[in-house]
Amino acid sequence: MSQSSEFQALVLDKSDDGKVASTIKTLSDADLPEGDVVVRVSHSTLNYKDGLVLNGLGGLVRTYPHVPGIDFAGTVEQSSHPDYKDGDAVVLTGWRVGEVHWGGYAQKARVKGDWLVKLPDGLSPKRAMAIGTAGFTAMLAVLALEKHGATTGGGPVLVTGATGGVGSVATAILGKLGYDVDAVTGKAESADYLKSLGATNIISRGELAEPVTKPLLKERWQGCVDAVGGQMLANVLPQMMYRGSVAAVGLAGGNKLETTVVPFLLRGVNLLGIDSVMCPKAEREEAWTRLTSDLPMDKLDAMIHDATLKDLPDLGTKILKGGMQGRVVVDVN
Ligand code: NDP
Repeated sequence: MSQSSEFQALVLDKSDDGKVASTIKTLSDADLPEGDVVVRVSHSTLNYKDGLVLNGLGGLVRTYPHVPGIDFAGTVEQSSHPDYKDGDAVVLTGWRVGEVHWGGYAQKARVKGDWLVKLPDGLSPKRAMAIGTAGFTAMLAVLALEKHGATTGGGPVLVTGATGGVGSVATAILGKLGYDVDAVTGKAESADYLKSLGATNIISRGELAEPVTKPLLKERWQGCVDAVGGQMLANVLPQMMYRGSVAAVGLAGGNKLETTVVPFLLRGVNLLGIDSVMCPKAEREEAWTRLTSDLPMDKLDAMIHDATLKDLPDLGTKILKGGMQGRVVVDVN
């Protein structure tokens, strides 16, 4: 089937004074970077990292012009990769796509087939992007907690940055699995939203904001999915239960960690690093399969805010201010 070579993309350019600005442009296949698979993109999404890229922050993009979008889902249009053929439904997260490589804020992307994952049966491209890197990473965090002994009878699990993308999906998965979920949020008005996703208790951000003075406090949580880092993570570690685990996912509240080693030495607490970007393919496939069984799709749908390419500059600024709730799905067409 012959496909049109022209397509729309949100392109970032950097001016001589260092300012980064976006324009929606018409590009053609000849503009696309190298790769062995061309994907006709249907949906993309917005993650915290996309907010940084859209605002020219974080030093993530090396060369301009640049097409952002760290995730996309769509259909293979052309492939010389042995695992993919025309018409396959695929999803891409990570591999520095949307940062070093051109990403998903376009109607077409050309990438390495090794970076793609086939969409699990029954998962639409729209829902795959409602999950996106944020939701995929939340699943990786839950898998890591399970591999380190988390069980539904073992005590509550804490989710920080709970109304954000990672936090919302983590809350919904943990709730479905039967965990008691303590959800930390700075948005008091979002308590009902978090309870509808599966949170058992709501904890106000302020309660975990002030620096703790003791290396150990009362044991409260067997596990934690932490999207915030900084002072909040430092306050959580002394309150973990014996042999509990914290999955360190994000830094929405800061990248410094000032703590003591005492929780590790006296309570055997595990601090587990979660990286979604270079995650090996077998773990990616495990996570996507688990998402289809363990993330309630009605709860995922309730997190979705629909958007188009032209909405992204404003949304990219909003997410950096912690102002988003749930997940943005971008229909690029
Ligand atoms: P969102 O912006 O959607 O969510 C972050 C949430 O954190 C906010 O909604 C807010 O939730 C809370 N928050 C924001 N600012 C602060 C603050 N100053 N102090 C305390 N809490 C704050 O982002 P994502 O969910 O997409 O990403 C969350 C983090 O995870 C980011 O740092 C991101 O870079 C990281 N990440 C890491 C990945 C990895 O591979 N390790 C992959 C994906 C994301 P509330 O108002 O409810 O408190």
